[in-house]
Amino acid sequence: MPEKKLKKKRIKIMAFALLTVVMLFVSGTGKGSSVFAAGTDKKKDNSVSYQPQIDAAAARKAQLEKMLKDLKDKTEELTNERTELAGHIEALDKQSAELSEQIEELSSEIDTCRLDIMSATEKYLNSKAYADRQYDQMKLRIKYMYENGDDTFFDVLFGSAGISDFLNALEYRMQITAYDNSLYTKYENAKNEAYETGLLLEAKLEELTALEATKEYELESVRTLKAAKSARIIKLANEIGLDEDTIADYWDEIVYQGATIEELTVLEEERLAAEAERLRIEAEYKFNHSLDNILWPVPSSYKITSYFGPRKAPIEGASTYHQGIDIGKSPVGTPIISVLAGEVIHAGYGESAGNYLRISHGNGVVSVYMHCSKLLVDKGDEVERGQLIAYVGDTGVATGPHLHFGLYIDGKAINPLEYLPYKE
Ligand SMILES: [Zn+2]
Repeated sequence: MPEKKLKKKRIKIMAFALLTVVMLFVSGTGKGSSVFAAGTDKKKDNSVSYQPQIDAAAARKAQLEKMLKDLKDKTEELTNERTELAGHIEALDKQSAELSEQIEELSSEIDTCRLDIMSATEKYLNSKAYADRQYDQMKLRIKYMYENGDDTFFDVLFGSAGISDFLNALEYRMQITAYDNSLYTKYENAKNEAYETGLLLEAKLEELTALEATKEYELESVRTLKAAKSARIIKLANEIGLDEDTIADYWDEIVYQGATIEELTVLEEERLAAEAERLRIEAEYKFNHSLDNILWPVPSSYKITSYFGPRKAPIEGASTYHQGIDIGKSPVGTPIISVLAGEVIHAGYGESAGNYLRISHGNGVVSVYMHCSKLLVDKGDEVERGQLIAYVGDTGVATGPHLHFGLYIDGKAINPLEYLPYKE
């Protein structure tokens, strides 16, 4: 892989890592881990899930793991090829060494052959010189004998003291000629022999030279092959090195993604817990504010002395259309509880209502508690469902201690018994 490409890849990985960090900061941080978290916890939007980020990081991690595996497989292949190549190169080196040795031997044989040729040539030239000289001398003597042949012959013949002398002389001359001849033949043979030897040696030299050329050609081929394999092995080593760098990068990012997933998972768990808590509070709020769960306002008495609706006013000043119910058989000081959770919107004294409370429960529902001996909450207070809020009394227009309880929906008085858990 070229250096440039690798750099590009690294930049890509870094850019992704940076993006993830930015995303982390944008979407909020875990409590305690960030300086921003402390003051903004309340405003934190728990409805936005970290799951898409976790999924993205997991997908990226899986992708990287796949890439890592592929690259590792590739590197293994390259490493195998490198090992195989190294074996080839070793074999080629061996072959090269063997060929060089053979060439050296051939070269030495060629040198020896050349020396042998030189000595054969010398022998040939010497023998030839001897043969030539012998031939010339023989020729001279024969010529002399024949040029002066008759005279000499007859000189020999008649100059001899007798036939035996003559024969001796003749034989002598013939012997000389034979000796000359034999010497010449000997030199000539030596010359021919040297010549033959020279021819054979030259043929051998030619053969050796051709063999040497073949071996040199072979050696050259082996070297060329080795050069190619060496170049390939260098390339492989380079590639393996770069791949190992990339593998290390992949590892780094996998670890980074793993840490990101872990961090985000913690955030997601915290978010889910916070969301569950929010839902729980919301459900609790709904429960405590719903008419379905309304409580009886005087736990110690279910005695109704006056029902909701038209009636004859029990005393002067009391209403003829009763806007609630009266719960009696309750001495002064009997506890009154808030029928639902809510906010006290009125706490004070009225001429006919005496000490009374109005509590808003949301959704337009308001409860009213009149003639109390004592109010325990103030306007603006948040009260819980079932909280002690006042005591029964007979303040205002009342014939005796009782609680006048009224229930209003959107400002309209309704019969509380439609909702209250009344038991006889
Ligand atoms: Zn009443």
